[in-house]
Amino acid sequence: MGFGDNSAPPSRAFCMPSLLSPKTQRSPLLLAWLTALWLGTLCNWPLWKALLALPETGSPRGLLFVLAFAGIITGVLAALLSLAAWRLTIKPVAMLLLVSAAAGAHFMGTYGVVIDDTMIVNVLQTDARETRDLLSVRMFVTLVLLAGLPSVYLWRTRLVAMGFGRQLLRNLGGVLLGLVLAVVLLMACFADMASTMRNHKSLRYLINPLNSYYALGQVAFKKSSKPRGPPQVVAADAVLAARPDGRKPPLLLLVVGETARAMNFSLNGYARATNPELTKLDVLSFRDVSSCGTSTAASLPCMFSHLGREQYGNNKDQHQENLLDALQRAGLAVLWLDNQSGCKGICERVPNAMANVAASGAPALPEALCDGPECLDGALLHGLDQRLEALPAERRAKGVVLVLHQMGSHGPAYYKRSPAELKPFQPECKTNVLQKCDPQQLINAYDNSIAYADRVLAQSIAWLQQKTPSFDPTLLYLSDHGESLGENNLYLHGMPYAFAPREQTHIPMVLWLPEAGSAVAKSCMRGKLDRPLSHDYLFHSVLGLMGVQTRIYQGDRDFFASCKTKP
Ligand SMILES: [Zn+2]
Repeated sequence: MGFGDNSAPPSRAFCMPSLLSPKTQRSPLLLAWLTALWLGTLCNWPLWKALLALPETGSPRGLLFVLAFAGIITGVLAALLSLAAWRLTIKPVAMLLLVSAAAGAHFMGTYGVVIDDTMIVNVLQTDARETRDLLSVRMFVTLVLLAGLPSVYLWRTRLVAMGFGRQLLRNLGGVLLGLVLAVVLLMACFADMASTMRNHKSLRYLINPLNSYYALGQVAFKKSSKPRGPPQVVAADAVLAARPDGRKPPLLLLVVGETARAMNFSLNGYARATNPELTKLDVLSFRDVSSCGTSTAASLPCMFSHLGREQYGNNKDQHQENLLDALQRAGLAVLWLDNQSGCKGICERVPNAMANVAASGAPALPEALCDGPECLDGALLHGLDQRLEALPAERRAKGVVLVLHQMGSHGPAYYKRSPAELKPFQPECKTNVLQKCDPQQLINAYDNSIAYADRVLAQSIAWLQQKTPSFDPTLLYLSDHGESLGENNLYLHGMPYAFAPREQTHIPMVLWLPEAGSAVAKSCMRGKLDRPLSHDYLFHSVLGLMGVQTRIYQGDRDFFASCKTKP
C-alpha cells in the first residue's frame, strides 16, 4: 500500500528536497502522515525532555524506549489524521493540530505544566489581561517553528485529485497502518511503558497534542451533561442564632489570596522579611494549611463548597449552592469584590462588584493603583466604606461578610503584582519566560508580590479597626493555592492534585482578631497554629463565626468552634 504521489516519478516521490520544493503535488494521505511524524516527534519535545531526565532512560534500552514512544504517538496520530485525509479537510485539520501542538509544547516546555481537564478550564477562563501576561517572543518563535513552517509547506502543496472510493480505501489503509505501527511498538516495549507510566503518571498529560484534545473532550462532555436551571439548594434551613445582648454584629473581611505559598511568608519562618506590616499587628498565622486544588478554577468553587476536597472532587460537576448562598439565606449582608478574572460562578447570586470600577459615591480610582483595567490589590480597599453602606441596612444590622478576591501573586508576570515603590527585593525578573529568569531574580519578584500582599492585608486590618464602634470585626486571609518557582524544574501551578508538589498546595492562612470584644478568643486560637487545616474547614468555620445555624454545619470542621468566648 502506498500513500505517495502516483503521478510523480518514483525517484522524486520520497526524496526530501522534493518534499520541500513548492507547489509539488501530494496525496492528502501523505500530508497526514508527514504531519503525524512532525507532531509525534518535534512537537513532543517536552515529553522527550521529561523522559530523558528519568533515571530509567539512562541506558541504551531507555533510549530505544523513547524512540518507540515517539513511534507509538506518531502511529496513533497518523491513524487519526488518515481519517481526515481528504482534499478538503486535510489542510485545515493538520494546521489546527499543528497550532494547538505548538502552543501546548510552548506552555509545557516553558512552565513545566501538564495539560489536563483542569488546565483546559483554566485556559478557557483566562481573561485578556492574563493572556497578555503569557505572551512572549519565545512563544512566537515556538509557534513559527513548530506550526508556521509546516503550515507553509502544507499551504503550498497541491493535492492530488482522486476518486472517492480510491481515497477512502487508501485512508482506511492509512488508519490500519498507523494502528499496527502503534500496537507493534507498544508490544515491543510494553514492560518499560507500563512501569514508566505507572511510576510517572503525569507523563500521560505531556502527550501532545492528544492531551489537549482529550482534556477538551472531558470538559465539553461535563459541560453538556451539566444540569441546567437553578443550583441544588444547600443549607435551606440556614438561620441566624440570636445574638447575645451587647454583642455587635459580626463583620468578616474574607480575603481570598492568589498564588501565595505559605513557605514565602516570614510569619511562617521564611528568612526574608516578606511580612513586615503583619508582623507588627499581632496576627495569627496558621502554618499547616492545604489547598483544595492547585488552580483557581479548581480551588475557588471547592473552598466555598460544604463538601470538602474529597467529596467535592467526586461531585464537582453538580451545580450546587455555596457558602455565600448560605450566609445570604440566613439574613447576612454579603458582597464579593473581585480584582481578578471573576469568582468562577460562586458569587452569581449575591451582590458582587469588580475592584477596577470605582464604587458609586466614591472618588475615581487613583492612577497609581491602576494601569488600564488592571489594578493592584490596593484597589479592593478603595471606596470600601461606600460599598459597605450600599448593602441593605437590615442585613448589615445582622452581620456582614465581605470577600476580597485578590490578584495576589498571579504569575508568570510576578513583577506586575507590586507597585514600583514597594519592591524591597532587587533585582527583579521582568520577563514572563520564567526559565530564562535568574532563579534569585524570579524569587525576588515573587517575594515583592508577597510583601505587597502583606501591606494590603495590613491596610485591610486598619480599615476593620475603624469599624469596631459598630461591628465585631475579623479578618481571615487564605490563598487559593501555592506556586512552583522552579523547584524540580516546575513553574506556576495546576499540577494534578495527586502529583502536585507541596509548594503548590501549602497555603498561608492569616487571622486577625481585635484585642478585646471578639466572639473568638485570640489566646485560644494562638494555641492552634500548628493544627493541620485545609480549605475543607472554610465553609463550616465561617458559618460558625457568623452564627449561622443549619443541619449541614459540621462542628469538627469549624476551627473557631473550641475558642468561642462567652458573652
Ligand atoms: Zn489561583
